[in-house]
Amino acid sequence: MSETLIKVVNLKKYFPIRGIFFTKARVKAVDGVTFDIRRGETLGLVGESGCGKTTTGRLILRLLKPTAGHVYFEGKDVFKLKGEELKKFRKSAQIILQDPYTSLNPRMTVFEIINEALEVHKMKISDKEEFIVNWLRKVGLEKHHLYRYPHEFSGGQRQRIAIVRALVINPKFVILDEPTSALDVSVQAQILNMLKDFQREMSLTYLFISHDLGIVKYMSTRIAVMYLGKIVELAPADELFEKPQHPYSQMLLASIPIPDPEYALKKPKVRVYGEPPSPINPPPGCRFHPRCEHVMEICSKEEPPFIEVERDHYVACWLYAKR
Ligand code: SF4
Repeated sequence: MSETLIKVVNLKKYFPIRGIFFTKARVKAVDGVTFDIRRGETLGLVGESGCGKTTTGRLILRLLKPTAGHVYFEGKDVFKLKGEELKKFRKSAQIILQDPYTSLNPRMTVFEIINEALEVHKMKISDKEEFIVNWLRKVGLEKHHLYRYPHEFSGGQRQRIAIVRALVINPKFVILDEPTSALDVSVQAQILNMLKDFQREMSLTYLFISHDLGIVKYMSTRIAVMYLGKIVELAPADELFEKPQHPYSQMLLASIPIPDPEYALKKPKVRVYGEPPSPINPPPGCRFHPRCEHVMEICSKEEPPFIEVERDHYVACWLYAKR
């Protein structure tokens, strides 16, 4: 089995909703997630909007302070890093965001944007212009793009610049937070293939966050399914698609549109009730129980344990756990 690069242990993030004098309530965005990311793999993180995927990514990078829990990067607790060790972590772990237009400074040229990353991380490069042009060529841009501003590029080109800015400092781990959802389909494929090529060449490890299951399957080695701040299933990508075990994963997969109407009619139907509940006051026990067609008495009383049902395939559901 591959070596663990990142270990997330019982991670929680509650956002306070403040009243005039007191904290009125807390949004439980991430509520006790535990998983690991293996060196060289792509772990897909899927779930509906608001399930806590992006918050989990930001916690791993220490862009948010956790309410509880730990993140270990190469065995070191990320939340305890200081000084040089923290700088080293910042260089090793990068993020590529959904909207490259808002993540690139509109007042800086491409050269300034990429050079800033080199300066911040004190990379010693003899000819920076040549170095940056070489990187731009790797993503299909040219020397004449060097002194242009972000607004002069298309969405796909801006995402290529964001990719260079993240990779130019030679990280080990990159969070891809919906990196193609703002792009046209044809451009999406180019960017995804480019990210796969860089992963091979640079031995990168990815956390791929998306709500698009087709893209997640294409990119991921394993997939974790999140529902209302918790991970409910974690399995190798092919296995999750062939044999989803958690009723919520089955619902998600059943919602993928099928372009063949005959096959779509034959496909087993998964019945789901209602909307996702509020993360301010999540249901007790299994959080999916108000919507689950297999709900049992225990489901609304006790939280199901996260257990291995087959090799490397974990599920949190009372249908599989011993009671
Ligand atoms: Fe459904 Fe119960 Fe499993 Fe939750 S624990 S998914 S309610 S069967």
